[in-house]
Amino acid sequence: MVVNRSYHLRMGKNLKPSSTYDPLLQLLVRESDTSSDRIRSKLSNHYDWCFCELCWRSTEYAISMAAPKVFKRLKRENVKVVPLTETVRTRAQKKANILVARYEQALRGEFGKYGPSRMLLRYCDMQELRGDFSVAAFREHVERRMLVSTWAEDGELLRPATLPGQPEGAARPSKLYCEAHNPRRSDEARRAYQRDRRFALEYEELIAQIWAQGAAVLRRWDIETWADVRKKAYVQLQALKSPTSSLDDLLNRGITNQSEIARELGVSRQAISAAIRRRTRKLAD
Ligand SMILES: [Zn+2]
Repeated sequence: MVVNRSYHLRMGKNLKPSSTYDPLLQLLVRESDTSSDRIRSKLSNHYDWCFCELCWRSTEYAISMAAPKVFKRLKRENVKVVPLTETVRTRAQKKANILVARYEQALRGEFGKYGPSRMLLRYCDMQELRGDFSVAAFREHVERRMLVSTWAEDGELLRPATLPGQPEGAARPSKLYCEAHNPRRSDEARRAYQRDRRFALEYEELIAQIWAQGAAVLRRWDIETWADVRKKAYVQLQALKSPTSSLDDLLNRGITNQSEIARELGVSRQAISAAIRRRTRKLAD
């Protein structure tokens, strides 16, 4: 599941140490688990930080960021969750409607030549809009922003320390892996992690190859493209490593020319050569 990644992208730019609510300690704590160099360097990449290391899905952490919560500080460092009520929704909707009406006026030229772009810059994330400056796109953005900001008026906006739907005390959202690949999440996830981690380098290689091959057409500024590239590479990787893979089919059909196999499977010759080496090793065992 890839939840609203452009939203994560925006949040990703402001990854300063921030407070998080610890359900065990029942108080706000400073987030300090970004001390690892590996995680720090991952989070500093504006496009890559939200993806699982082993696939195209969002990390658990990125998903937990998409589920913000508002807390109210009480005495003695206690906090309580502020519910997202209908009243908050109505207040937010009113604000959004006013802004959309102003944007329509701006588009009609009522606030001068630069009226619309000034509003877009102020209320939207240009990268997220991706060139769509329509009223509908503007509405979608301000509605979401107004909801969160209106909600936050009643307390303090924080990222939850657990994943939505996970019990308190469960492992914290992983910054490196998705729910299906986090070894601490479940037995099944641990098996998927062990299975795919062995191919992590090949996976990175396939991703790099797809970017290189599509350098002229792939949109590096578009987070959806990043997900597509990772997904495509993941599919290729499965084809390469599965014992009943298309590689075996081709070899059994007597096709041994690596360039030809590469063409058939849509991957590079180097990837095929590595896969054949691996296959030979396995057959020898
Ligand atoms: Zn994953």
